[in-house]
Amino acid sequence: MIRTRFAPSPNGPLHLGHAYAAMMAHDLARTRGGAFLLRIEDIDGERSRPEFVEEFFRDLEWLGLDWDEDVRFQSRRLDSYAEAGERLKASGLLYPCRCTRAEIAAAATAMGPDGPVYPGTCRHQEIDPEGAAWRLDVAGALDLTGPLEWTDEGAGTLRAAPEIFGDVVLLRKDLPASYHLAATLDDAADGISLVTRGMDLFPASHVHRLLQALLGLPVPLWHHHALLVEPDGRKLAKRRGAPSLGDRRRAGEDGKAIAEALRQHRFPAGISLSAGLHQSP
Ligand code: GLU
Repeated sequence: MIRTRFAPSPNGPLHLGHAYAAMMAHDLARTRGGAFLLRIEDIDGERSRPEFVEEFFRDLEWLGLDWDEDVRFQSRRLDSYAEAGERLKASGLLYPCRCTRAEIAAAATAMGPDGPVYPGTCRHQEIDPEGAAWRLDVAGALDLTGPLEWTDEGAGTLRAAPEIFGDVVLLRKDLPASYHLAATLDDAADGISLVTRGMDLFPASHVHRLLQALLGLPVPLWHHHALLVEPDGRKLAKRRGAPSLGDRRRAGEDGKAIAEALRQHRFPAGISLSAGLHQSP
């Protein structure tokens, strides 16, 4: 049975782009007789705010998108992330790093999906691990696993190329996880068989495929959907004025009609779907 999920981060209110993502994950599960789960990605302590979570529940109900099973919260799963982190450390594939963003930007010679690619500064150095972040030696990891593949329903089967990010942080200095590690572990723990999310996270799946191989996790299928974009091609964002679903709900708009319009690709003026470019390295 197919299982999908919507995994919002409670660092701001949901807007129409989130509604589209939630509708996609919900409908893909429902049309195939599967389960749709809701996961709150709330481990970013500085930016996560519990009041947004309550709003998310109301927004989804208002849109007519019902989820199955208990809501998952990443903040309740820190132990499982720490355990996986210890296993990876024991494999010798992680190394501590204390570089700042500015140092990385100054030393980087390439740009990756998330900005300047970490150039491996600390990979072969003696670094005090106390309070450091831990990075994955991606080349070393790929030597161990050999070539890997993953399949997106739209893009087909690709060779995993996690090296486009450089040596990613798996354990942040303030957390026993990073987005990549937590999302990969959660999708496996929740039995997600079709990872549904926006095209902006397409590159991240290269890293997640590698983590699945290293941690012995099942390999799902992926479905990266197009994003709602403004006329300049940039995705909708609250900070650029995309109205929140909560505001529209309180103003008395009909959420189910909004979800139905999204299904039919009827968008407000100036908003369209991004050209579905699948980025291969
Ligand atoms: N929490 C992420 C976001 O809000 C989504 C993560 C995922 O779907 O893998 O962008």
